[in-house]
Amino acid sequence: MIKVEHFTYDYGSHRAVDDISFELKSGEIVALIGPNGAGKSTTMKVLTTLLRPCGGKVCVAGYDVTENPMRVRENMGYLPETNPLYGDMLVYDALASVAAQRHIPAKNRAEAIETAARQCSILNVMHRPIETLSRGYRQRVGIAQAIIHKPAVLILDEATTGLDPNQICEIRDLILEIGREKTVLISTHILQEVTAIAKRIILLNHGKIACDGPVSELLGTVGKKTGNSSAGIEDLFAFYTHEQHFE
Ligand code: ATP
Repeated sequence: MIKVEHFTYDYGSHRAVDDISFELKSGEIVALIGPNGAGKSTTMKVLTTLLRPCGGKVCVAGYDVTENPMRVRENMGYLPETNPLYGDMLVYDALASVAAQRHIPAKNRAEAIETAARQCSILNVMHRPIETLSRGYRQRVGIAQAIIHKPAVLILDEATTGLDPNQICEIRDLILEIGREKTVLISTHILQEVTAIAKRIILLNHGKIACDGPVSELLGTVGKKTGNSSAGIEDLFAFYTHEQHFE
């Protein structure tokens, strides 16, 4: 569903993503993690066609992001880190506006809005201005906007950042529910979220893939290499991002 081959991205002379390759199959929920500046957002921006790759090939739902960006967008839902919403808009109007932008035929829009709102459990706030909602509800609205056109792939950039523990649990459950029928790539700095949401992680460091695989297998590898049989996700992160392991 997502295929990235030898992808490279440069900001001027600065190489932000350096020859990475990975593939996501249909129905996978994968966490993209890494320290600040590792290249996560750049990768997501290329997957969502906001940036064009400088090298390599990036395909989503079978479409090349450079050759066929419109097709990629049709098959893709994206919640950026900033979750840009107009505070004075009613939730219903915000969804209706995205439904129109997504070219959902007018006769199908009410149903599409209701389906997305039901899935994200926001039917009870449809007629409230967005600025009156909690951050957790605003994230739900952002996710509802991202899935309203029933995309096969969902990209979530830091979807749980800034939420309180209860809101994190709610958004996590929502992502797990959505992940039953979509391919989901989620970036997060909250390492506990990784094990709760994703079975597989891709860890970027300095623009390269430091490790990619099922969380349980990677934890086993780190456990063996460090002699810590109870190694957790924090140990894994430290192991693969600590400079000495690349020397
Ligand atoms: P964070 O976790 O802080 O969001 P990230 O893993 O998402 O980091 P990116 O934002 O993709 O990392 O940045 C990768 C590298 O590219 C960093 O060194 C960053 O400073 C650089 N970079 C990002 N955006 C730009 C830009 N617009 N111009 C120049 N350099 C940039």
